Amino acid sequence: MARYTGPVCRLCRREGEKLFLKGSRCLTPKCSFERRSYPPGQHGREKQFRRGRASDYLLQLREKQKARRVYGVMERQFSRYFSRAEQQVGLTGTNLLTLLERRLDNVIYRLGIASSRAQARQLVTHGHIMLNGRKTNVASAMVSPGDAISIRSESMGRTYFKVLRQEMDDRRVPRWLSVDVDNLSANVLHMPAREDIDVSLNEQLIVEYYSR
Ligand code: SF4
Repeated sequence: MARYTGPVCRLCRREGEKLFLKGSRCLTPKCSFERRSYPPGQHGREKQFRRGRASDYLLQLREKQKARRVYGVMERQFSRYFSRAEQQVGLTGTNLLTLLERRLDNVIYRLGIASSRAQARQLVTHGHIMLNGRKTNVASAMVSPGDAISIRSESMGRTYFKVLRQEMDDRRVPRWLSVDVDNLSANVLHMPAREDIDVSLNEQLIVEYYSR
């Protein structure tokens, strides 16, 4: 599946806020947004001061782009998630966020096995992750209640996972997941509710974007 391979910090500057796409670097003074918090491009700094009132369409578009960038999903796949969310019972916006949150790469990030969703995606595609006892390299695989996530036994001996086992902190794990730090394994307890999803997104604007 395709993925964005361009400069990542540019995306934060485009959205005008920190999206935390680069793991621990985002918390240091090296963060590009801390140093240059204006839009990217030759005239980015001028645009920062010239901005008038944003149109409804612009606000909706930016929210949709922000969601795509936070979860690392390309346009076509995002629109497929939206269609699927529309067909489900309940609020379309919440359904959309729930679908995005259930992606395996996002779950690996939420568990603290990776410091960013991009790194989580790499761990999955490189075959280090098992879903229900079977190796999976599909970052977009959807987890469901009752699913078990673990690290492949061959990968457990790697330095990365040895260090992770000592440093992993289970306090930040959302309540819809349970983690066993010693074995680096986890279970999905239930579907994530809206209050479990701590991303600063206004999903209603995304619904309005697709309802034009
Ligand atoms: Fe965004 Fe992180 Fe880059 Fe800062 S370091 S601009 S938060 S991706």
